[in-house]
Amino acid sequence: MKEKSIFKKIIDRDIPANIIYEDDLSIIIEDISPQAPIHFLAIPKKEIKGISDMTEADTDIIGHLMLIIKKQMADKDIKDYRLVVNNGSEAGQTVFHLHIHVLANRTLGWPPG
Ligand code: AMP
Repeated sequence: MKEKSIFKKIIDRDIPANIIYEDDLSIIIEDISPQAPIHFLAIPKKEIKGISDMTEADTDIIGHLMLIIKKQMADKDIKDYRLVVNNGSEAGQTVFHLHIHVLANRTLGWPPG
């Protein structure tokens, strides 16, 4: 049997995390090593390694993740934020289970490092 990703372990409650939102399709957790005062990860429950591994069948999940991020940030009255998806190790991906970083509450430089 293949090894579960760290996020799959969190989804299955094998290991703890600060889960701030959950529904049938997704969770949002606090990043364990925050790079901004607000640093969440929006994660589909479906095990997709990354953007490169998405198929047509996964189209709806990305829209769903965007909408739950929008709602979460609106509920917190945060208007300015950055979303990041690292795809592949050279782009900085370390957990191979698709996730969207949500960063806010500090000035974010551009271009990113
Ligand atoms: P990436 O490098 O884009 O794959 O992002 C993976 C993110 O997962 C990093 O920002 C890590 O800090 C975060 N992370 C790793 N393990 C955990 C964990 N157990 N709980 C919450 N966040 C985690």
